[in-house]
Amino acid sequence: MPIAEKMVKMVEVSSMIRKMFEEGAKLKALHGPDNVFDFSLGNPDVPPPPEFNKVLRDLVNGDSLNHGYTPGPGHLHVRKAVADYLGNEHGLEFTPELIVMTVGAAGALNDVFKALMNPGEEILVPSPYFVGYDQYSFLADVTLKTAPTNADFHLNPAAIEAAITENTKLMLLNSPNNPTGAVYSAAELAELGDVLERASDKFDKRIYLISDEPYRKIAYDIEVPSVFQAYPHTILISSYSKELSLAGERIGYLAVHPDAEDAQLVAGAAAAINTMYCVNAPSMAQLVVAQLQGISVDASIYRRRRDLLCRGLSEAGYEFNLPEGAFYLFPKSPISDDVKFINLLQEELILAVPGSGFGAAGYFRLSYAVPDSTIEKSLAGFKRTMEKALR
Ligand code: PLP
Repeated sequence: MPIAEKMVKMVEVSSMIRKMFEEGAKLKALHGPDNVFDFSLGNPDVPPPPEFNKVLRDLVNGDSLNHGYTPGPGHLHVRKAVADYLGNEHGLEFTPELIVMTVGAAGALNDVFKALMNPGEEILVPSPYFVGYDQYSFLADVTLKTAPTNADFHLNPAAIEAAITENTKLMLLNSPNNPTGAVYSAAELAELGDVLERASDKFDKRIYLISDEPYRKIAYDIEVPSVFQAYPHTILISSYSKELSLAGERIGYLAVHPDAEDAQLVAGAAAAINTMYCVNAPSMAQLVVAQLQGISVDASIYRRRRDLLCRGLSEAGYEFNLPEGAFYLFPKSPISDDVKFINLLQEELILAVPGSGFGAAGYFRLSYAVPDSTIEKSLAGFKRTMEKALR
């Protein structure tokens, strides 16, 4: 076998995903891209804020740009800018040593998983969960375990406590959530903090909390609470992929709570992994985001689309929890076989992702990072699919 045995299954999964995208591309070629309603991708279509273009232009037109390697954890002044911003936002004092600039949130998650996990140890995540976590766990050679959420996709602390074992090293959270749109409240985070303290005592080891927050600035009528306030042994992960619509520029960071157990050691190990794998995060993107701290895309655009989609699907008889943030809707499939339902949607030229890919069979995910017109034109197809499914 020319490839590693452990890769066989992963190649199968990625060829399934590729096939899905190829199928979508074929439909677009056949019917015209405007007649295919592609809700399958979490790729932001809202342009970056105008400040981004100005900062980028000034940088390119100035004479301070250099294209050499940066320090492994990132330019010092960039980490300082992030540390200052986070310090204000969370009421804590971060030093630049606690920040590592990364290749997106994906790079940060990979760094942390590899830096903290020994083979055979477990990461616990509430389900449904973002599919990337399976891949990052695979790369780190560790086990991803799940704990169910409540019917509204909010945390179930008792289920989390019951799922923690002596092998649990990391608890992984994602709020606002992909795929469900849930935003966890301060009270539920505080309860989770208590669970993690108790479990760390019980098993006589420190369980760290990883809070993956690339959608933090995309929330509706709700402030995303600071997870740092709920549990000090926390590593925050974020990126500019969604909050500045810079997904392709691959820039993000990780930040270790100043009071986390062995905070400096944890940040240093994550920085070392970052250097080993990618040398440094893209230098120009680091320089740009340093000047855009606190600036984000206009979330009201996503909110308008959420409302448009939710109103239309509700009228067509779909059941779902209203997303509180991010740009995903996670409705119940009207039939238990979500893959079959996705195929029915495809007959109406609607592309979506089955919930089984997120550990939640019987649901499906729609990304509303699409133009309003895509939503408007797709609604009749959603209605017909519902009728067809119930026949
Ligand atoms: N975490 C979640 C929950 C995501 O949805 C994504 C991307 O969609 C990522 C991490 C990776 O984001 P990035 O582009 O910052 O690597």
